Amino acid sequence: MNDKTSYGFTTTILHSDRQKDIEHGSVHKPVHTSVLFGYKDARDLAQVFQGKQSGYRYGRQGNPTVAALEDKITKMEGGASTITFATGMAAIGAVFQALLRQGDHVVSSRFLFGNTNSLWQTAKSQGIELSLVDATDVANVEAVLTPATRLVFVETIANPRTQIADLKRIGALCRERGILFVVDNTMASPYLFQPKSVHAGLVINSLTKSIAGHGNVLGGAITDTGLFDWSAYPNIADNFRKQASAQQGMAQIRAKGLRDFGATLSPDAAHQIAVGAETLALRMERECANALALAQMLEADPRVAAVYYPGLPSHPQHKLATDLFRAYGALLSLELKPEIDCFDYLNRLKLAINATHLGDTRTLVIPVAHTIFFEMGAIQRAEMGIADSLIRISVGIEDTQDLLSDFAAALSA
Ligand SMILES: *Cc1c(COP(=O)(O)O)cnc(C)c1O
Repeated sequence: MNDKTSYGFTTTILHSDRQKDIEHGSVHKPVHTSVLFGYKDARDLAQVFQGKQSGYRYGRQGNPTVAALEDKITKMEGGASTITFATGMAAIGAVFQALLRQGDHVVSSRFLFGNTNSLWQTAKSQGIELSLVDATDVANVEAVLTPATRLVFVETIANPRTQIADLKRIGALCRERGILFVVDNTMASPYLFQPKSVHAGLVINSLTKSIAGHGNVLGGAITDTGLFDWSAYPNIADNFRKQASAQQGMAQIRAKGLRDFGATLSPDAAHQIAVGAETLALRMERECANALALAQMLEADPRVAAVYYPGLPSHPQHKLATDLFRAYGALLSLELKPEIDCFDYLNRLKLAINATHLGDTRTLVIPVAHTIFFEMGAIQRAEMGIADSLIRISVGIEDTQDLLSDFAAALSA
């Protein structure tokens, strides 16, 4: 296990824990429940507190089971280090809390996960300048940059309309201007795409979704790709400037974002996520194949008005997706012709479950304008291209023919 350095994605994840000694030869990293960590020599305890010696202090800031998962996520993203959180939103919130100050400017894609949109509105109310732009074209990002722009935030594949940000060009622009590029990679997952390849500085993953995959646990992560020069970032406190420049950003996020706000991932949750993560590649392969078959079938049906899926040649960023991603993702959305009521259609589906959530092993459907994007109101929904009849499908690992039959039969009824 030690000699070869470049194993494939799944091999690397499966054997990640064994690269360090695991207690008693245990194959899985054990669930360490202890909140406190004792030291025989009080001087060692002091050294750990002063950052001069590695070691655990208190469960809110780190734990061996959680650290083993962080290590796996770092490997999945090809990054330098990872910090996990209780949820994906806590991870995004930590970027806001730890790295932004009053008067800073943030540029964000306006095709955003609803709660992230809500979080940016909070940031705005607390003195952050916010520009929401159509990030499928780098020109829209470049047009709003100011000397106070601290970060640019995009999602790889936006939910629910599957727009793909102009990732390569935005990465190049941020690199040229020395701006932190933050990519929420939840929808693609690190198996389909590593944002490091387009020069992202930080990568967000909701571990709740594809990485865990089984819908029994919440979690989130921030990965530092190692590409951003933290010595040039203005908002690092003096205290963290003492560290090597490569570590400054994550040291501040771990202290100010995780420790001080306390949304820590529990060791039990870390264990459940780690078990799920072992099959990420297998599930994504199946989900993406199912999603493509379903998208093709629905697009060919005259009763369907529109299908949005990056794997279809009709998708505006189909070529970009083909260039950047290993496959086209597990999420698609559709609009039915007006004569079919979207609620009636959903109620006729037998396998697909009416539920929010995505990246699950089971296929899930939701009428987005009436649920997850209801709170933001009609005007912003229109700006995001969300029609009242839009249905989002998060495609699971069911047998392909069963899924196709379910969605076809519900159209016929
Ligand atoms: C679900 C999701 C989040 C939030 O993750 P939680 O673990 O539910 O807090 C953030 N970004 C995207 C793109 C998501 O789909």
